[in-house]
Amino acid sequence: LGADRETVLICGAGLVGSLLAIYLARMGHDVQLFERHPDPRSHPPPSGRSINLTLCDRGLAALDHVDAGRAAREISVPCKGRMIHAVDGALEFQPYTNRGHALYSIARNDLNRLLLDTAIGRGGVHCHFEKKCVEVDLAAPACTFRDTRTGEISELRARRLFGADGVHSAVRREMQKALRFDFTQKYLDQAYKELHVPPPPGGGWALAHSAIHIWPRGHYMLIGFPNIDRSFTLALHMPYDGHPSYASITSPEALLDLFRTSFPDALPLLPALVEDFFSHPETSMVTVQCSSWTYLDRVALIGDAAHGIVPSYGQGANAGFEDCAVLSTCLQQAGPGDVQGALQQYERQRKPNADAIAALSLEHFIELRELVSDPKFLLRKEIERRIYDLHPDLYMPLYAMVSFSLMPYTEALRRDRMQRGIVDEILAIPEVRDKLGSEEVRAAIAERLQACERGAVC
Ligand SMILES: Cc1cc2nc3c(=O)[nH]c(=O)nc-3n(C[C@H](O)[C@H](O)[C@H](O)COP(=O)(O)OP(=O)(O)OC[C@H]3O[C@@H](n4cnc5c(N)ncnc54)[C@H](O)[C@@H]3O)c2cc1C
Repeated sequence: LGADRETVLICGAGLVGSLLAIYLARMGHDVQLFERHPDPRSHPPPSGRSINLTLCDRGLAALDHVDAGRAAREISVPCKGRMIHAVDGALEFQPYTNRGHALYSIARNDLNRLLLDTAIGRGGVHCHFEKKCVEVDLAAPACTFRDTRTGEISELRARRLFGADGVHSAVRREMQKALRFDFTQKYLDQAYKELHVPPPPGGGWALAHSAIHIWPRGHYMLIGFPNIDRSFTLALHMPYDGHPSYASITSPEALLDLFRTSFPDALPLLPALVEDFFSHPETSMVTVQCSSWTYLDRVALIGDAAHGIVPSYGQGANAGFEDCAVLSTCLQQAGPGDVQGALQQYERQRKPNADAIAALSLEHFIELRELVSDPKFLLRKEIERRIYDLHPDLYMPLYAMVSFSLMPYTEALRRDRMQRGIVDEILAIPEVRDKLGSEEVRAAIAERLQACERGAVC
C-alpha cells in the first residue's frame, strides 16, 4: 500500500479477512481486523454450522506463500477421490486423478483459528471481535461498529478499507447504494443441513477416511467430509419443495423413512439423525456477482463479498485465498504511488476468474447430484483419465485443472470446452467401452490431440 506504514481496516475476520490480514501485515501495515462474531479461538461454532471445506492446490499455494500451508495440512484429512454410495450399499471409489492428487478436508473453524493465531502471532494485526459494522463511509474510508454485547458505537477511519465480510457484505451494500454498481444474486432451489457421524466407539473411522463420500440421488444427495477427530460431517442437500424436500420431511418417521429407502448404509452411522435434522438450520446457497469491486484507491471487496459461489466445487475459500495472493502482488508491483491502479489491476485479473468459477460451480452441482452414478458420465470420466495418463502435457481433465493446478479458472473453462469435443469423438467410436485400452482408441486420441495442437477446431 502506501510507502509509510498505513492503517488498513479489514471488515470481516472469516477465512479470507484473516488471510488478507497476514498478507498486509507482511507488507508492513498496521492491520485492524473487525469481526461481528466472538473470537472463534475461544468460541466453538454454533451447532450445525461447522462447514467443512476442502482445500485444493490453489488455496494451499496462497497459504504456502505466507508460510501457513504446512500448518493447514497438519489439521486436514487428505482425500484422494470420491466414494460413491449406491442405494443397495455398493461402493465405488473414483480417484480425482490417477496421480494421487488429494483435496484436504478441514473444519472451517479450525482453519479460521489457525489463520487468526498466525495473524496475531506474527504481529501487525489487531483483532476486534463482536464488533458489527453498521455503517460504511466509502470516501473516508471509515466504518462504524456496534459492539454486539454492550451496544456501544465506535468508528474507525483508515487509509484503506477491505470488505471481507462475506456474501451478505455490509461494505458491498454501501457500494451498491453509493456507486454505479452492478449486482446480481441467484439462489439455488436447494438448501443443506449438517448431520454428524461420530467416530466408532471401538476406534477407527465409520467410513473410509481418504475420500469425500457422496450418496447421489438425483435431485437430492448426501455428501460427507472426514474430520481429524475421525468423525464425519455430512450435508444433506434437498430442495425446499417437492418430495423429498424440507417441506415434505416434517416428522421423525418421514425422515427415517427417507434414510431407510435412500441412504440405508448411512442410517446406522447417524445416532443423532433426528435431533440433528430438526435442530440444525437449513442453509441456502447463492451465487453473487457484482462490479466494480473497488472504489478509487480506498476500498476493495475480497472473497465472498466480491463473488459468492455455490459450494459444489469446493472453490469459494480457495478462490478467496487466491484473491489475497493476487491483490498483494498487484499492490507490490504497482508500488505506493499507484494504489488505485493496483486495485483496478486486482479486479481486472480476478473478476473474470470469479465469473468462470461461478459458472463451473453451478454445472458441477448437477454433476455431483445426478451424474456421478450415471454410466455414460462415468465412461466419459474414464476416457478423460486415460487421455490425461497418455498425454499429460496436452490434456488435463476439468476437475484437475480447477483443483490440482494454478491455471486461471478462465483458462480451465476455455480448455474444457475445447477438450469436450475430443472426448465426444472418442465416445462416438463404436463399442468404445469394451476397447478403451486398445490401439484403435489410443491412435484416435493421439490423432485428435495432434489436430488440436495444429490449431484445428476441436
Ligand atoms: C456448505 C459449504 C461448503 C463449502 N465448501 C467449500 C470447500 O470445500 N472449499 C472452499 O474453498 N470453499 C467452500 N465453501 C465456501 C467458503 O466457505 C467461503 O467461500 C469462504 O468461507 C469465504 O470466506 P470469506 O472470508 O470471504 O467469507 P466468510 O467466511 O463468510 O467470512 C466473512 C466474515 O465477515 C463477518 N461479517 C459479516 N458481516 C459483518 C459485519 N457487518 N461486520 C463485521 N463482520 C462481519 C462474518 O461474521 C464472517 O466471519 C463452502 C461453503 C459452504 C456454505
